[in-house]
Amino acid sequence: VGLGNVEGQPRVANCLSQALSRGRLAQAYLFTGPEGSGKRRLAAEFAKAVLCREAGPGVVGACGGCASCQAVDGGRHPDVALFQPEKGKTAYPVRQVREEIRRQAYLKPALGGKRFLIVDRAEALTRGAGGQNASADTLLKLLEEPPPDTIIILLASHPARLPDTVRSRCQQLRFDPPDSENLARQLVAEDGLDRDEALFAAHLAGGDLAVARGLLGVRKKDKPDLRAVRETLLEIVRSLPRRPYPELFALASALDAAARGWLALTGALGLLAALYRDASLKALRQEAGGEPGGVGGGVLTFRGGPEQAATDEAAAGSDAGRLRDAALRALAAQENSRRYPARLLLLEVLLIDLETLLSADRLGVPS
Ligand SMILES: [Zn+2]
Repeated sequence: VGLGNVEGQPRVANCLSQALSRGRLAQAYLFTGPEGSGKRRLAAEFAKAVLCREAGPGVVGACGGCASCQAVDGGRHPDVALFQPEKGKTAYPVRQVREEIRRQAYLKPALGGKRFLIVDRAEALTRGAGGQNASADTLLKLLEEPPPDTIIILLASHPARLPDTVRSRCQQLRFDPPDSENLARQLVAEDGLDRDEALFAAHLAGGDLAVARGLLGVRKKDKPDLRAVRETLLEIVRSLPRRPYPELFALASALDAAARGWLALTGALGLLAALYRDASLKALRQEAGGEPGGVGGGVLTFRGGPEQAATDEAAAGSDAGRLRDAALRALAAQENSRRYPARLLLLEVLLIDLETLLSADRLGVPS
């Protein structure tokens, strides 16, 4: 079975499976990757596989049915502990690391195998300043002399915030960002969104669950209007060549108003680039004599829905090279949006630029 059944992370799962089958487990791991990439899930699967009663020589992976596997699944295995910063706190105080994590590390495994300590949001360990004790230092002492039967797994979305001394004591495994489908499934399951809305937010967030939640968040008046962002982007992609300037300005202004906040604006521009990229691939396929929708399904960002229809339309109205350039202009605008506060101006210039680009004939002369 292995750990391959953890969705979306075959590389990391494979690496852990191999370590397991060779009996070469590290004493400390650092799982890094964006929020939503499955770090917690894979840590639990790993613990399950190591602790499974049915596992033995030649059998790698959890059976899923024994008492041990079921206890891990139910979050009540005595040898698997998950730590998070205390409620209402953003950091791990020294006391929590000393009294909870270190104390547990030195207990003998209750069921005779190994003991797993999973430290979620490890970047919330504090670094010392001005001679103060830091919780990262307290953990470091544990990593320097780990008890033999204990396996420590640190999970971090922002590993750069951890001290080098902590990182270097761990075997680091990098998780890939989840694909949008996968992320959307999590948003549907955990946040009760409808699928369409979830998928759009996932695309907009570029595969980061925390960003997607931030975008959707109940953050009062600053909340972006994702529905309007989507409608405006689709209208741009469908209709851009040959629209008069006043209409371009109206579109720019609609996007500016809907994509409130920096996060939503950069997300929207990234999405615009992805739409033009899909259109460019489709146009490329047409130019090679294939069917409009016939590009290898896995290559396209958008399959189905109004996004697919809009990119079909754009592909029919332009050639692959110009659509690719359009994607690049959208990415350049995204980069610029980090530096220039004049959002509306940036969007107006982008739309004029795209209009000129897409309405030019193949020799680059505006028609
Ligand atoms: Zn089992």
